[in-house]
Order: sequence, then C-alpha cells, then structure tokens
Amino acid sequence: MFQTFESQSSPEQGPPRLSALRAVMATRGFDAFLVPRADAHQGEYVAPRDARLEWLTGFSGSAGFCAVLHDRAGVFIDGRYRLQVRAQIADVYTPVHWPETQLDAWLSDHLTQGAVIAYDPWLHTVDEIAGLRKKLKDYMLVATDNLVDAIWDNQPPPPKAPFTAHALEHAGKSHDEKRAMLAADLEADTAVLTLPDSIAWLLNIRGTDIARNPVPQAFALLHKGGQVDLFAGAGKADDIRDHLGPQVAVHEIDSFVAALKDLEGAALIDPKTCPDLVATTLADANVEIIKGKDPCILPKACKNETEIAGAKAAQARDAVAMVRFLAWLDAQAPKGGLTEIDVVKALEGFRMQTNALRDISFETICGAGPNGAIVHYRVSQQTNRPVVPGELLLVDSGGQYVDGTTDITRTIAIGTPTDLHRTQYTRVLQGMIAVSRIRFPYGVGGQHLDALARAPLWMAGQDYDHGTGHGVGSYLSVHEGPQGISRRSEIALEAGMILSNEPGYYREGAFGIRIENLIVVIKAPALAGGDDRNMLCFETLTHVPFDRRLIDSNLLSFAERDWIDRYHADTLSLLAPRMDRQTLEWLTQACAPL
Ligand code: ZN
Ligand code: ZN
Repeated sequence: MFQTFESQSSPEQGPPRLSALRAVMATRGFDAFLVPRADAHQGEYVAPRDARLEWLTGFSGSAGFCAVLHDRAGVFIDGRYRLQVRAQIADVYTPVHWPETQLDAWLSDHLTQGAVIAYDPWLHTVDEIAGLRKKLKDYMLVATDNLVDAIWDNQPPPPKAPFTAHALEHAGKSHDEKRAMLAADLEADTAVLTLPDSIAWLLNIRGTDIARNPVPQAFALLHKGGQVDLFAGAGKADDIRDHLGPQVAVHEIDSFVAALKDLEGAALIDPKTCPDLVATTLADANVEIIKGKDPCILPKACKNETEIAGAKAAQARDAVAMVRFLAWLDAQAPKGGLTEIDVVKALEGFRMQTNALRDISFETICGAGPNGAIVHYRVSQQTNRPVVPGELLLVDSGGQYVDGTTDITRTIAIGTPTDLHRTQYTRVLQGMIAVSRIRFPYGVGGQHLDALARAPLWMAGQDYDHGTGHGVGSYLSVHEGPQGISRRSEIALEAGMILSNEPGYYREGAFGIRIENLIVVIKAPALAGGDDRNMLCFETLTHVPFDRRLIDSNLLSFAERDWIDRYHADTLSLLAPRMDRQTLEWLTQACAPL
C-alpha cells in the first residue's frame, strides 16, 4: 500500500508536453488554457486518468492549478507546496504563490485585452467560472474540450471496478428511507448530484475509483418523487441492481448530459461543487436552475446510531493496530537504523493485520525531527530521514474500515525528550483536552470553539497555521464537510457530527507536534443541578495513549490531569481484552496514572 509517489511525469517531460499543448492552443486560437487539479467531482483525490495537472507539469500536490499562455505557464500553489513544486516542475513553468496572487490578476498582467481564455467546463465549478467572468470582463472565456486529453497519448482509462452495496448493518438507514426523506424537503423537481460521497451516502454504495476514499465516480439525479437516476461507467453498477431496487435507474455515464437536457421543471444545483457544464447545459435547455446546497451534505454529516457504533468499533480495531505499532516503535527506535519509510511501512503492516483494513484513509504523514514541522509532509525516497534518539516523531495516519474511517496523530519521543519538547507537547495536549471537555449550547459553530484549542499556545505567544478540526465520513472521505473547527467554520455543530480535534505546534527546522483524536457531537448529559439550556458536548472516539514522557504534569490543572488519567484508564479497559500479553504489558505502563 505504501507509495513514494511515483510520478506520471518527470521534469524532462514538462517542456515537450507544454509545447504540444501550446500547438493545440494555437490551432484553436486560444491565448490561454486552464489546467486545474480537480476532476468533474471536485474531490481531494483524482483517478490516474484525471491527473492532468501532474501529467503536464510534474506537480503532484493535492491542490493547485496551471494557467498555460504562449509565453509563460504559471503553476499556482499554496504555502504547503512551495518546496515540493520546485523539485517537481521544469523551469518552463513558473511557480505562482496562491492565494496571494489570484488567477484573474495574473492573467490580466500577462494577456492583452480581448485575449481568449479556454477552460474545460467539466473541471471548473459554476462559482469558479462565474467569479472569473466577473473579474475578467475584458477577456473572452471559452469552454472547450480538454486540450490535455487531446495530447495525452497513453491516458489511462477510467477506473472500471464495480460499485458495491454498503450494507444496512453499517449504514443504519436504507436508501429508500434516505431518498424519501430528502425528496420530501426538496425545493426543486430534481436535485443534480455530482459529488461521489453524496451519491455514496444516498444510495448506500461504495466504490474503489479513487485511492483512499471509497467513493463511486458517478452522477445522479434525485427527483421529487424520491426516484434516482444513477449515471455510471459501463457495467459498474451491474452487481448492485438488486440493492438499488426499482426506484433507482442505472444509466451509462455518457448519457448524463442528455438527461440534463430532458429535465422538466426546476433543477437544484450546488454552485460550489457542480461543474460549469451542468449549469450551461440546463440553461441552454431552458431548465429553471435553483442554486442551493447539495441536499445530502448535512444529513450525511450527522451520523446515525448505527454509524456511530460502527465508528467506535472501527476506532477500537484501529487502536489495537496503533498500540502494537507504538509498542514496536518503543522497542525498535532506540536501537537506531529506522527511517521514516520503515515506520510508515510498519504501521501499515499493523493496520493490515486487523484483517479488516480496506485502505488507508490518506497518505501517512511521518515526520522525524525537522520533517515533523512540515505540516503536510509526505515522505519520499529523497526526504527519507533516520529516526534518531533525542528527536520527536510525528505520525498522522488512518484507516478505512467498512464500519468507519479513522484519523489519528500521535507525537512520540524517541529516546529522552528535551524540556522544550515537553513544554510544547503539554500545551498542545491542553488545547486538545479543552476541546474534548467543552459543553456548549445549540447553535455554536466550530469557529467558536477553535480558540479553546489554541489558548494555551496563545498565552505563550505561539499558534499553529491550520484548522483545529475537520469533519470525517463514515467509511467515506477522511475530510468531509460541512462541519469543522476553525475560524472560518460557521456551521452549527449538531449531534452525530464526527470531527477531528488536532491542535499542533511547529518549530521550523527543529520539530513538529500534533495530537489528534476523533470526537463525535452528542447531547450533553445534564449537570447534577440541571442545565438552563439544552447543551451539546463531545464524546472521544479515539483511544490510544499519549506519550507520558512528553507530558509535564506541573503545567496541568487538576481537571486536565484528571481527564488524562481517565482517558488512559478508559483506553486500557477498552483495549486490554484485545491485546496479546506482551503488548498489554506495554499498554498498561503507557496508561498508568500521571
Ligand atoms: Zn490526521
Ligand atoms: Zn485529521
């Protein structure tokens, strides 16, 4: 499962591919062509066939885009990828810092008025194109077929593997029930669904089209009567026809556009994620368009009892793998000779030994020493670092199980930690505990809780440059909206939402610390004296010990210390029956009271 990102492209291939693209642009009369990272479904991962940005430029990051002009080509990347992009792209490409430099500003700097800017309308959302049109009034924005596909000789075929049914014992609610529930609230005659995880949730199906996210690549139309038209690649839904039943009709994916043209009444699209092509097709066919949220997103986020029970089972299983891994690391690392890649492979091995792992839930982040300070670090053969005593090791990883998706970060002391390591680790842990313990009234969003996780760092003049938490799917995407814990997360938290709780601290060139548990929003049990308001709180799903060597008890309040001791006691009682004798010995020590 471990990959060191063998690229479909190397820097030497950049210049000839760019020339070929420019030649096609010239014959079509285009002055610019946009190459985004996204596919038509706007997910975090793309199939090899859709990895156009990487094939053209060599850049393999999970976000970014390229704007090709005849005299220059800009690769737009955010702060995470500034180092990586230089190593991956040839010098015919210019890295552009995004969002500091916006695409429209860059295009108007380098194009003359009236220039023709071409784009593939499947790959850009309605909002993206509307935004560009507004800002680029003096230019012509033209939809075209994909020019990268036109020059890509051995473009891989679309993924062929069949979809599978997601059993009721894991989904908790049948797709009949879900379709009826959504249809009853639908403020249009049809909702156009283009997000694979929305379709996966609605129809209780899964797929293997994309690495790490078990989603089916498909489109769907949900009608007012609760019927669904599902558009999928040839044969991909053959095995699940019984599961889908008479209310769900299966069609070839190529007939999706024709079906859009035939729609009657009003169609709901989500402009933040819907391909621009869908909106223009509907408009050309005189179908009334209603812009609104994808109706699956909020109900998908609020997990039902079955899904929460599944998440707990998956977490306990994953915790056994994590604990065996941590015990192994404690025994092996002091001997020396381990590298980051060895650690990643070992951890994946322990997860595989659960015999239930479907996939890892994202590429494992394993950063030793200064590599731990690179927030989105992915080890490669070039960056692989030995794990040496006196340093910290940050490991952020997760698994996809049929009953749940996990995501956990632990920071581990290799050998003896320094006082600075311990102070910083304790502050990060205090922030994580503050979020874990908080009770809050209905209507509170993640933006109101974010500061709790940062307060111990803020008081010391410190902070971290990422959100505190993201939503997590149920055997779906490890990053799932709409809920989150960050300054920008306005969505009110509701019972059943699963989130990560992952504050960190990063000292460039030295070390990185992050501690991450998954938590679920529950109705808060009333206090002894009763609550004035209905309150919510979090229940912690992840049970894996923290590194006691890194906790400075003197910095903790009584309540924090008590929380840690109870967390460790719960962890021990939950996992003890699942442990072999040797690992249980390690776990018992790791879970001892402070
Ligand atoms: Zn994580
Ligand atoms: Zn996470």
